[in-house]
Amino acid sequence: MEKIKMQIPIVEMDGDEMTRILWAMIKDHLILPFVDLKTEYYDLGLEHRNETDDQVTVDSAMATKKYKVAVKCATITPNAARMEEYDLKEMWKSPNGTIRAILDGTVFRAPIVVKGIEPCVKNWKKPITIARHAYGDVYKGTEMKVSGKGKAELVFTAEDGTETRELIHQFEGDGIIQGMHNLSGSIASFARSCFAYALDTKQDLWFATKDTISKKYDHTFKDIFQEIFDAEYKKQFEKAGITYFYTLIDDAVARVMKSEGGYIWACKNYDGDVMSDMISSAFGSLAMMTSVLVSPDGYYEYEAAHGTVQRHYYKHLKGEETSTNSVATIFAWSGALRKRGELDGNKELQDFADCLEKATIETIEGGQMTKDLALITTIENPMVLNSEGFIKAVAERISKNF
Ligand code: NAD
Repeated sequence: MEKIKMQIPIVEMDGDEMTRILWAMIKDHLILPFVDLKTEYYDLGLEHRNETDDQVTVDSAMATKKYKVAVKCATITPNAARMEEYDLKEMWKSPNGTIRAILDGTVFRAPIVVKGIEPCVKNWKKPITIARHAYGDVYKGTEMKVSGKGKAELVFTAEDGTETRELIHQFEGDGIIQGMHNLSGSIASFARSCFAYALDTKQDLWFATKDTISKKYDHTFKDIFQEIFDAEYKKQFEKAGITYFYTLIDDAVARVMKSEGGYIWACKNYDGDVMSDMISSAFGSLAMMTSVLVSPDGYYEYEAAHGTVQRHYYKHLKGEETSTNSVATIFAWSGALRKRGELDGNKELQDFADCLEKATIETIEGGQMTKDLALITTIENPMVLNSEGFIKAVAERISKNF
C-alpha cells in the first residue's frame, strides 16, 4: 500500500515522561506505516527546554504561526521538586502558557465519547465542548484584607490624570476586597475563536455570564459577543445551520444538565475552570479528553488534556508493565492531521484521521482497553491491555479498515 502524502508539515512538539513514551509508539505503530509524515520537530522535553533556556518553546509557537497546525505532547510544568529532579537553571514557565501567549488562543476541551464508557449524566449522548477564556478576572485579581472601619473605592486614573471613582463599600468592621479586570481586546479574540470553532466543527455555541447582577463587567462580555456575532458571523452561522445562544450562567447550567450535548459551551475564566473539570469527570476520564488551542488568526494546536502521567513513567523506568491510556494523544494526532488535510485540500489525509479515530473507538467498544477504562466500563469482561498492546490493537484495526 502506498503511504498518504503530505504537502506541508505540521509542527510536532514532543514532551515528557510517560506521554513521551506513548508519543513514539503512536508514531511508530499508528502513523508512520500509513502516512509519509512531514513534521517540523521541536523537543519540548524538559531537559531540552532547559538546555535552550526555553527558546525551543518559543520557536515551536512561532513555527505554529508559520504552518498553522501543531500537535503537542504533554509536558512537565516545573515546580520545586522538578528543579531538583532535572537540575534546572530556572523554574521555566508552563509551555502551554508560553504557547498560548504567543498564539493568543482559546482552549477547547471535548470528551471522546465511546459506548461502554457512559457519562454519569444519562441524557448526555454527544460531547460537550468547553471553551474557557484564559485571561483575567479573578486570575489576575488584586486582593486586600481590611480591618475596622473605612471606605473602599474603585479608582481609575486616566492618562491625563482625570479620576473616576465608585464606592465599593463603607466598612463598619473587618472585611475583604478584590479588584479584577479584563480587556475588550482579549474578550473579542475569545469571542472570535469561539465563533470560528463553532463553524469549524458545525456545532451550536452557547455563552453565559451573570449580566443581570454584573451590569457593566459581565454585560460587556455579553455585548462584545453579540456585536461580533452580528457583524461577522451571523450569516455564516445561518448558512451552516448552527445557532449562537446567550443565556444567564445559572440557566445555562440547568440546561446543560438536561441536554443531550453536542454543542460548545463558552465560559468566562472561572466558570471554564470549574465546568471543564465537571464535564471531564462526568464523561468518564481525563484520559479521554482532547484539547485544542484555536487562535483567532486560524492557528491550531492539538494535545491531550491530561498531564505526563508521572506515576506510570516511574513504573516504566523500573521495567514494570504500564497500562497508560493513549486515546487523547492519538486524538491529538488525528485532529492535527485532519486539520492539515482540510487546510491543504488533502482528502486522503482527512480520511486517514477519521479512520484512526474510528479504529481507536472500535477497539474500546470491542472490549480491548487500558486499565483506567476497564475500571469504569459497562462492557463485561474487558480485556486489559498494556500501553503498547492497546496501540498495537488499534494498528491492527487500521490495517483492516484502511
Ligand atoms: P496527570 O494528568 O499526568 O495525572 C493525573 C491523574 O490521572 C494520575 O492519577 C494519572 O495516573 C491519571 N491519568 C492521567 N492521564 C492518564 C492516562 N493517559 N492514562 C491513565 N491514567 C492517567 O497530571 P499530574 O499527575 O497532575 O501531573 C503530572 C505532570 O504533568 C506534571 O509535571 C504537570 O506539570 C504535567 N501536566 C502537563 C499538562 C500538559 O502538558 N497539558 C497538563 C497537566 C499536567
